[in-house]
Amino acid sequence: MRRQVITGGAIVVISVASAAAYGIVQGKWFRSAHQVAAQVEESVNAAPGQKPEGGETASAWFAQGAATEPEPATAPAQTSTAVAQMAAPRPLPDRQAQAAPQPPKPAIACANPNAMGVSRVVEIDTTGGPGFGSQHFKSFDFLRDHEVALTFDDGPWPTTPLVLKALADQCLRATFFPIGKHATYHPDILKQVVAAGHTVGSHTWSHADLQAVMKKGGEAAATEEIEKGISAVHLMSGASLAPFFRFPDLRHPPEMISYLGSRNVASFSTDIDSFDFKIKKPEELTKSLIAKVIKNGKGIILMHDFQKATSIALPQILGELQKNGFKVVHMVPKGTLSTLPQYDEAVLKENKLPTMSDSKPTESVVRTISGQ
Ligand SMILES: [Zn+2]
Repeated sequence: MRRQVITGGAIVVISVASAAAYGIVQGKWFRSAHQVAAQVEESVNAAPGQKPEGGETASAWFAQGAATEPEPATAPAQTSTAVAQMAAPRPLPDRQAQAAPQPPKPAIACANPNAMGVSRVVEIDTTGGPGFGSQHFKSFDFLRDHEVALTFDDGPWPTTPLVLKALADQCLRATFFPIGKHATYHPDILKQVVAAGHTVGSHTWSHADLQAVMKKGGEAAATEEIEKGISAVHLMSGASLAPFFRFPDLRHPPEMISYLGSRNVASFSTDIDSFDFKIKKPEELTKSLIAKVIKNGKGIILMHDFQKATSIALPQILGELQKNGFKVVHMVPKGTLSTLPQYDEAVLKENKLPTMSDSKPTESVVRTISGQ
């Protein structure tokens, strides 16, 4: 273990070399024999007083019961993982141009003096494809007591802007896992997510259950689902993509975990599943979720910006989190994820798919110059 304190910049670097491994659970979980060097880097939060800036139903592919019956998976060989704490975002976009892969986040004006704000930002080194979220992965438990990380799946969707507003009102940032196809339907909404400074990963091309895809079409088909999702989100957002991935329905075929490891993409399961694809009443959703968060004490929360109930309940959910003393941590990647050209092409060749310039509003491309 190495501990280094740099004053002035107030950066604390702690390196831990341990045999802690990459654990994956299904009720119980496994430890691999792989040596893991975990590196944790910390830097102190923004100065006191500085306000930080802050579903699965509509389509058939969402219908399978989600999130509860993970299959065991084997761990990928992993050599180095880092979760680094960075300064919480400041009102000016001065952070991390070089270390943070995503383009510099624009500042979110925080008009609400009582806003929660991001309490800290952690930078995640996705080398080797670490896994997060205790429902399936146990090695890297970086959240402290009463800390939560907010994650939203299955967008972009017309419900997403309400989610963005609720987050902006509290000067918060979250992590989104958009579906490739949805990105092609709503590129402008996806761009709003990026513009608000949230972290954007991916969640496959069509939300296929990758275990089923593996059985039917093998690794090549499952790889295509993952890569086309990555390509679509990248093409439609027009921004760098975080090497962050969430498996649809939290079904983790071991081969695909290994594949993501080879691509240096982190997998995010969850600690607290809101089940917002089943609970349709916003008040019930809030009550149920807050009870889970209090019981768990901390964790990565899985929600869906795709779900109407979530988009309506989110202001209440955030208010209850604040009331109960919870703080929000924003996860950002250390590196960027490059797309693979053949899957970019495959995305662009899809039927009915917009071409690159299709993300422009129609009025800017076609206008009436004669007649009604
Ligand atoms: Zn999903």
